[in-house]
Amino acid sequence: MTTVQLTLSPEVAASDARIREEIAHQLSLPLDQITSIQIRRRNIDARQRRILVNLSVEVYLSGEEPEVDTFEDLVYPDVSSAPTAVVVGAGPCGLFAALRLIELGVRPIIVERGQEVMQRRRDLAELARTGIIDPESNYSYGEGGAGAFSDGKLYTRSKKRGSVEKALRVFCRFGADPKILVDAHPHIGTDKLPVIIRRMREQILLSGGEVHFGCRMTELIREQGAVTGIVCASGETFMGPVILATGHSARDVYRYLHSAGVLLEAKSIAVGVRLEHPQALIDEIRYHSPEGRGKWLPAAEYVYKAQSGGRGVYSFCMCPGGFIVPASTAPEEMVVNGMSPANRGSRWANSGMVVELRPEDIPQTDIKIDYLHSPLALMAWCEELERRSYIAAGRSLRAPAQRMTDFLKGRASSSLPSSSYTMGLTSSDLHRWMSHFVTHRLADGFRAFERTTKGFITEEAQLIAVESRTSSPVRIPRDREHYRHVLIDGLYPAGEGAGYAGGIISAAIDGENAATALATSLLHGR
Ligand code: FAD
Repeated sequence: MTTVQLTLSPEVAASDARIREEIAHQLSLPLDQITSIQIRRRNIDARQRRILVNLSVEVYLSGEEPEVDTFEDLVYPDVSSAPTAVVVGAGPCGLFAALRLIELGVRPIIVERGQEVMQRRRDLAELARTGIIDPESNYSYGEGGAGAFSDGKLYTRSKKRGSVEKALRVFCRFGADPKILVDAHPHIGTDKLPVIIRRMREQILLSGGEVHFGCRMTELIREQGAVTGIVCASGETFMGPVILATGHSARDVYRYLHSAGVLLEAKSIAVGVRLEHPQALIDEIRYHSPEGRGKWLPAAEYVYKAQSGGRGVYSFCMCPGGFIVPASTAPEEMVVNGMSPANRGSRWANSGMVVELRPEDIPQTDIKIDYLHSPLALMAWCEELERRSYIAAGRSLRAPAQRMTDFLKGRASSSLPSSSYTMGLTSSDLHRWMSHFVTHRLADGFRAFERTTKGFITEEAQLIAVESRTSSPVRIPRDREHYRHVLIDGLYPAGEGAGYAGGIISAAIDGENAATALATSLLHGR
């Protein structure tokens, strides 16, 4: 086998036959000597006017056979009579933690407040129809967590290549397209994720684990200070050490932990808006051509970052060809986020545009008296921002919106462009009711992005409020090595809600690591 690096036009890179021709040419071989090729890495270079696709390709010649990865080395044994651990939350963190526990010989009991992923899909259809948020089954709660109805972007800033590769292979083991192992920016798509998530659950059950839906943890059980199980709203109890993977939307969990004397810390977050452009415009800008992406290129992505007043302003979770969705988890709050189907085929490009906020950035006068000097202060401030957004939306899920150009000029929009957000938009002066320390930095950021990308500021783009669930406002401190809460044995805070992950892959990896630490302690007393 030989590995060949190719730089091709998008049209040539889209055809297996033409890639083989290029390889035969590069290796000075007759075409029929190439028996098979395997693309190992694909990345689009759109920095120059001439768009290129870089490929790393394994080439197999006569007599050589490629090894096909069947993912069968990922084995999930029967753990029905093994020691038990409780996993609270069936998001990426909880699901990957449960699968890892099984690999290591521990029986997981998953407790999830929301519904199984197919029922959840129906609940979201109902939300779209009625405009009423179900506080237990929504875009954030339910099997698959916040990652289920998303773009399914699977890239992370994590430098731990081995862990990232393992997480991607687990997705493939349960049905994801192995292309995610090759693409520089892999994504699955909201239309494909539910089946993969359902298969993960089926494996957990087949291995002897338990999964309880509609089951909200309300309390930790503690014996001599250590956590030994949980109590649910129904009164049911589940015993075992606990991986707490409840995500960052579960503010009731933070409130409970704080009231129960569990040490928590305030943490920086980022808040702002979803910015929506026509996808054709982003294609035109990113691919430097009035023809946009043409036939061979995918919907274009972007990443922007700038500084304003010592704080970062950046694009977050960009969804090319995507949709903006209501990501609220309780009544009287208006929160948006973005998702895309696998083909990223919608007419719109959306992205979070957010400003970094540290706990000390919030003026004391903006913090409710009950939360002054509390680790929950930033969380309470976010709640208030989401309530203001709800009021600006006319006390509904019609999201408040403003043209980008009007936002920068500080005036209301007399009309709004069409949008992927199907619940409807209400024209609103975001620059008035969002805090000034957010809006002026956002405006600075937009101007900085325009300096590098002509045409980014346009009246065809609009801001839709509010993007406030980018990461956890709270950290549940834990021991670096053992993943246990710094003061409480038996409690393993993990994933995004614990403040140790941001995104599907990093939450999945954190879940695996917490599970490994728990299993080591439970099975080997270390
Ligand atoms: P979560 O996914 O939030 O899961 C927590 C789970 O715990 C939930 O299912 C919740 O119902 C459950 N739970 C909460 N409280 C309790 C309780 N008391 N008892 C029992 N269960 C409880 N990230 C990416 O990397 N790529 C993307 O493309 C992407 N797109 C996104 C799109 C949307 C619309 C949203 C909302 C998020 C998106 N994200 C994306 C972020 C990503 O989904 C999260 O980073 C990730 O899901 C965090 O995983 P987690 O398991 O730590 O928490």
